[in-house]
Amino acid sequence: MLKKRTVKFGKPIIGDEEKNAVMEVLGGDILVHGPKAVEFENGFSAFTKAPYSVSTSSCTASLHLTYFHYGIGAGDEVIVPAQSHVATVHTVELAGATPVFVDAELETGNIDISQIESKITDKTKAIAIVHYLGMPVAMDKICAIADKHNLIVVEDCALAIGSYYKGVHAGLWGDTGSYSFYPVKHFTTAEGGMLITKHKAVAEKITRQKAFGVERAHFERKLPGVYDVNMLGFNYRMNEMQAAIGVEQLKRIQGFLDVREKNYFALEKGLKEVKGISLFKSTHGDFKSSYYCLSILLDDDIAPKRFELVKAINDEGVGTSVYYPKAIPEFSYYKEKYGYRDNQFPNAAKISNQTIALPVGPHLTEDDMAYVVQVIKNALTKI
Ligand SMILES: *Cc1c(COP(=O)(O)O)cnc(C)c1O
Repeated sequence: MLKKRTVKFGKPIIGDEEKNAVMEVLGGDILVHGPKAVEFENGFSAFTKAPYSVSTSSCTASLHLTYFHYGIGAGDEVIVPAQSHVATVHTVELAGATPVFVDAELETGNIDISQIESKITDKTKAIAIVHYLGMPVAMDKICAIADKHNLIVVEDCALAIGSYYKGVHAGLWGDTGSYSFYPVKHFTTAEGGMLITKHKAVAEKITRQKAFGVERAHFERKLPGVYDVNMLGFNYRMNEMQAAIGVEQLKRIQGFLDVREKNYFALEKGLKEVKGISLFKSTHGDFKSSYYCLSILLDDDIAPKRFELVKAINDEGVGTSVYYPKAIPEFSYYKEKYGYRDNQFPNAAKISNQTIALPVGPHLTEDDMAYVVQVIKNALTKI
């Protein structure tokens, strides 16, 4: 028996490098519109091989900017996954467009591609997907459908740094890819986001739209304080302190990802043959996951006891989560607005109702993973 310990679900890893970088920014005069944001964008492009990276205040901001940029709004429909973070769909609503939900496939939690075409109408303008828990979607199939129907492809990559499909980083198959640096993601800037794209014109315009629609970037102005505004825009910028943290975190990202992968495989190996649960399909063939966490899917007969099980696991010091607590159409906002029924998207609902997410982050070791396996096995025998 391994001895009891605390295994947190997520924990930001902030060292002296990040702290010093923030202090350096605070000791200078430039808190926004500065060189750190540019350095962070360049670093992000180098890691993902994105032609263009635009820093933003969050993944939600990046997604919203995408719909805004493409003029998607009232009267338009956007295909969205029923299983994701609510931000994937809230941003469609914020744009004024109508989300059209597609159920998840049970093997991975990703959008069921076979159901997409039947949901396309002459109002459809875009397909939004999420790489669920960092497992990439088969993007060539999504792009083929989009090309056929002349649709924009929006990738929610909040959990997909280090995810590759056919060797191409997530976010580069579609028109835009949106990243999150919220504290429990693969790395953090406290809050923050990045939008990547292969389109130069999109990057240039979104750079203006994230800053009030001012015609020139700050450093391009000829006279201080003198500018024109030729389009609408938000204030969705990332500040220099966040960017300074991001620059330092990026130097460690490959190390973080390597530990995640090792931990994931250790946990997968330990849980594979355990009765009462099944695991999602992870990295194989063309699909390389970023290993955000390992979710166990409880068998139907055990599922009603999920929260008892969660409590037993938490009592042994192991942190858990649920991705995501409801299928998006089952959240009150969507249910009341569109009249969805429970289980209308049965796989998305099953994932919400029957999974427990377990930690694999870089704050943990393979020994911690062995402990998690022991705790899960014990908890399952007791219920
Ligand atoms: C966390 C998350 C978001 C939201 O990211 P923010 O940076 O907090 O806006 C969106 N989509 C997915 C899939 C997420 O996991």
